[in-house]
Amino acid sequence: MIHFVGAGPGAPDLITLRGARLIEEAGMIIYAGSLVNPELLKRAKEGCEIRDSASMTLDEVIEKLREAHEAGVDAVRLHTGDPSIYGAIREQMDRLKELGIPYDITPGVSSFCAAAAAAEAEYTLPSVSQTVIITRMEGRTPVPEKEKIRLLASHRASMVLFLSTGLLDGLCAELIMGGYPPETKTVMVYKASWPEQRVIRATLATLPLLAADSGIKNTALILVGDFLGDEYELSKLYDKHFSHGFRRASE
Ligand code: SAH
Repeated sequence: MIHFVGAGPGAPDLITLRGARLIEEAGMIIYAGSLVNPELLKRAKEGCEIRDSASMTLDEVIEKLREAHEAGVDAVRLHTGDPSIYGAIREQMDRLKELGIPYDITPGVSSFCAAAAAAEAEYTLPSVSQTVIITRMEGRTPVPEKEKIRLLASHRASMVLFLSTGLLDGLCAELIMGGYPPETKTVMVYKASWPEQRVIRATLATLPLLAADSGIKNTALILVGDFLGDEYELSKLYDKHFSHGFRRASE
């Protein structure tokens, strides 16, 4: 059996109990070496074959997984954060399906959740935004025309930008042209949950310079939106005047 496992954002104790168990039981682990914390591999049993996929192609990864399957070995394909976000797992699953190799998926804590924790922020603030847009700036990898940053920014929802740290001048310009005022708050979170974690607070106008000064070039997320500001309404969920399925209004 092949197990796709979300490794979590970095801290080795932010993997799920199931993910940790699958690593402990695996006879082969192929991990995304550019981002997965190698500390997690210490859980592997003796004799486990461990490969870093950073230098491998899709064909090579599939070939290793096929070998494991044919030898009756359980293999873990370890992806950073949650594998459903920029994990490139769909192409692997489709190839395994074609080969008739069974697999399952164990989710992980995505870095966008760890970044919110680092920034002590809530993406879905009542009266501010009830929507989170997870996206990336177009770089060498294109994004569909309808998803240009400028168009997405017009919603003024809470936004999380993956894979965009090297493109901040263009990113901030697009966000402003799309409708966010230049003074909109933004946070850059570097290596959320790792010991090296850094949280840089800025506005759309000041982020490119502050980020350049910081020297941070990758493994960071940019959070943008009024959810980082000070104004919001209290939730209905805990409002003493509001009844719901689990609680009657007390006043
Ligand atoms: N599947 C992963 C994302 C993989 S794409 C997840 O769910 O988090 C890789 C990008 O994710 C990086 O370029 C960076 O933008 C972001 N990223 C991954 N781990 C991060 C972390 N600990 N802190 C900040 N950003 C991170």
